[in-house]
Amino acid sequence: MSWDFETDPEFQAQLDWVDAFVRDQVEPLDLVWPGLQFTPLDAARRRAIDPLKDEVRSRGLWATHLGRDLGGQGYGQLKLALLNEILGRSSWAPIVFGCQAPDTGNAEIIAHYGTAEQKERYLRPLLDGEMFSCYSMTEPHAGADPTMFTTRAEKDGDEWVINGWKFFSSNAKTSSFFIVMAVTNPEISAYQGMSMFLVPSDTPGINIVRNVGLAGETRDEGSHALIHYDNVHVPADAVLGGEGQAFAIAQTRLGGGRIHHAMRTIGLAQKALDMMCERALSRSTQGSILADKQFVQGYIADSYAQLIQFRLFVLYTAWSIDKHNDYRKVRKDIATAKIVMPTVLHDIAWRAMQVHGALGVSNEMPFFSMILGAGVMGLADGPTEVHKVTVARQVLRGYKPSDDLWPTQHIPKLRDAARAKLAEFLEHEVGNL
Ligand SMILES: Cc1cc2nc3c(=O)[nH]c(=O)nc-3n(C[C@H](O)[C@H](O)[C@H](O)COP(=O)(O)OP(=O)(O)OC[C@H]3O[C@@H](n4cnc5c(N)ncnc54)[C@H](O)[C@@H]3O)c2cc1C
Repeated sequence: MSWDFETDPEFQAQLDWVDAFVRDQVEPLDLVWPGLQFTPLDAARRRAIDPLKDEVRSRGLWATHLGRDLGGQGYGQLKLALLNEILGRSSWAPIVFGCQAPDTGNAEIIAHYGTAEQKERYLRPLLDGEMFSCYSMTEPHAGADPTMFTTRAEKDGDEWVINGWKFFSSNAKTSSFFIVMAVTNPEISAYQGMSMFLVPSDTPGINIVRNVGLAGETRDEGSHALIHYDNVHVPADAVLGGEGQAFAIAQTRLGGGRIHHAMRTIGLAQKALDMMCERALSRSTQGSILADKQFVQGYIADSYAQLIQFRLFVLYTAWSIDKHNDYRKVRKDIATAKIVMPTVLHDIAWRAMQVHGALGVSNEMPFFSMILGAGVMGLADGPTEVHKVTVARQVLRGYKPSDDLWPTQHIPKLRDAARAKLAEFLEHEVGNL
C-alpha cells in the first residue's frame, strides 16, 4: 500500500526553482504589462519574455499539461497541480510556461480528436506558444444549457456554412483560430446533433461586434467577444472529431479546464493569505499588532483551514485523474473542486482586503480583482449551481431508497434488531440482576 503526501526530491527541486523564478522573473511582468498576456508579443515584450520561455523549456517545464504522446512533457495532473499552484500567483506565469487557459483546453481537444493535418496546423503553433485560440460556445441567450444553442452549421457541397451568435468568446480579438460549437442536425438530440469546427480567425463572415470587458475594465476593450458568424464558409475537414461529437469533446475540454483553474486558484488564494499574514504582523492599532487581535486570528485560521482543505482535495482529484486517465471517471470530484473554488478564493481575498483597511479596497492592492476572479470562477466553465446538480446526482447514485416506512437508521427499529441480535447476552444481564 502506498499513501503519501511527499513530492519526490527531484521534482521538488524543480518546484523550488519555479517558485523563485515566478517571484523574481515573472511576477514583475504582471506589473509592467498587465492584461497583455493574450496580445501577440511586440519587439520589446519578445525580448523580455522569449528568454524566460526558453529557460522554462530547457528545464523541461514547458506545456506540461499534455502527455508525451500528445506532444507535452507527460508529467500528469498531480505534478501539474503542484506546478500550477505556483503559477497561479501570476497572470503571466501560465503564458511563460506554455499552459494558459483557454489554450490548454483547446490544445487538449485538438490533441485528442484532431486529424494529423489539424494537429500540424493548429496544435504545433499552440504548443510553441506562438498563437492564441478561442473557444466559442456560449451564446447570448444561453450558456449553462448547451442544448439551447442555436448557432447552425449547414452542409453546402464540400463546405459547411456557419450562422449564428456567440457571446463571451474569450480572446477572440487576438486568436488565430476559433473552435466553434454549432448545431449540425437539429432533427436529433443536441447531444448527437452538434459539432465542433476549427475556424481560422481571418475567415470572412466572422464579425466581432464588441469586446465585452469585466467589471472595472474600459468599455469595448475587454477580452470576451460578442461574435456574429455570418455565412462563415469552412471546408468539410474543419470538423473536429467527427460530426455530432461536440458534447463529448466539450466534456473532455471542460474537465481539464476546470481542474486546471482550481490548481491555479490555490496559488492565488495562498498569495492573498500571505499578504493577510504579512499585514497582520506589520500593522498596529489600539496597542497591539493586528495579528494579536482575535478577529484577525480568526480570519487567518479560517483562511488556512479553507485553503488546506481545498488544496488537498485538488491534489487528490489530480491524483485520481492520473490513476483513471479519464476525466469522466473523476467528474464528481472535478465538479466538487469547481464548486468550492470561488468560495475559497472569495473568502480569503475578502478577509485579506479587510485586514488591509482602506488600502485593501484601493487600486494599489490586488484584492478586488481577486474577488472578481472568484466571481468569474463561479461562472466560467459552467455555473456553480449546475456543478452542484452534477455532484448531487453522482453522490445519489451510491444510494437506494428505503423500502420501509421508516429510514434504515431509525433508532427504534435498529434497537429492536440489535436487541434481537444480542438477546442471549441481554437475557444473561437480566438474569444477573
Ligand atoms: C470570464 C469569463 C470567460 C468566459 N469565457 C468563455 C469562452 O471563452 N467561451 C465560451 O463559450 N464561454 C465563455 N464564458 C461563458 C461561460 O461559460 C458562461 O458564462 C456559463 O456557461 C454560464 O452561462 P450564462 O452566462 O449564459 O448564464 P446562464 O446560463 O444564463 O445562467 C445564469 C445563472 O442561472 C443559474 N443557473 C443556470 N443553470 C442552472 C441550473 N441548472 N440550476 C440552478 N441554477 C442555474 C446560475 O446562477 C447561473 O449563473 C466565459 C464566462 C466568463 C465569466
